[in-house]
Amino acid sequence: MSVVKITIIEDEEDIRHLLLYNLEKEGYSASGYESGEEGLAAVRAEQPDLVLLDLMLPGIDGMDVCRQLKQDAATRDIPVIIISAKGEESDIVAGLELGADDYLSKPFSPKVLLARIRTVLRRFAQPMADEGDVIQVDDLSLDPKKFTVTISGVPVDLTAGDFRLLTFLASHRGWVFTRYQIVDAIRGEGYVVTERAIDVQIAGLRKKLGAYGIYIQTVRGVGYRFQDA
Ligand code: CA
Repeated sequence: MSVVKITIIEDEEDIRHLLLYNLEKEGYSASGYESGEEGLAAVRAEQPDLVLLDLMLPGIDGMDVCRQLKQDAATRDIPVIIISAKGEESDIVAGLELGADDYLSKPFSPKVLLARIRTVLRRFAQPMADEGDVIQVDDLSLDPKKFTVTISGVPVDLTAGDFRLLTFLASHRGWVFTRYQIVDAIRGEGYVVTERAIDVQIAGLRKKLGAYGIYIQTVRGVGYRFQDA
């Protein structure tokens, strides 16, 4: 297996060095850049397996870097994890909606950093499951073709909207989604939900799922994530 390459774009030297240290210790090949311009050029040249991208950068900021990476066919498929300072939830939301794949809030522990990286890399390495495949989460079983959800064999009574919502979240375990992304993904013929209504619908769905309700995690200020496997 070839070495996984990670490009870090972070202007704060301490954090950049901490990231480089932890990634190299873990066996990744990492390179660090302190500006958006340098980082973009490096990603284009190196084609890394993943990019860690700070949002607040001198010159072109992280949001612009993310936009440019996700708009360019040559770099679009490289996963991006945003690094943000505390209180930048609205920027995280904007970054995710631009196509970033996950985020880390400073300060973060090396453990969380490495877990996020592993999750995102795994997601990109695996082919997406077929849409009709049965989703199994411990004793919860969801059959997209039959429109049924059971827990330990007992049917759960869900509305069509609940079903769409649960299918979307559970088929993307570990992914964080903004409300807008959820609304966009589950809208369909005859089914429209607003961003405001998502919270209410999630609360209702959690209740119906009983002990499995906790699998739908609230990501404060950002959105929701179905607990990773
Ligand atoms: Ca910064």
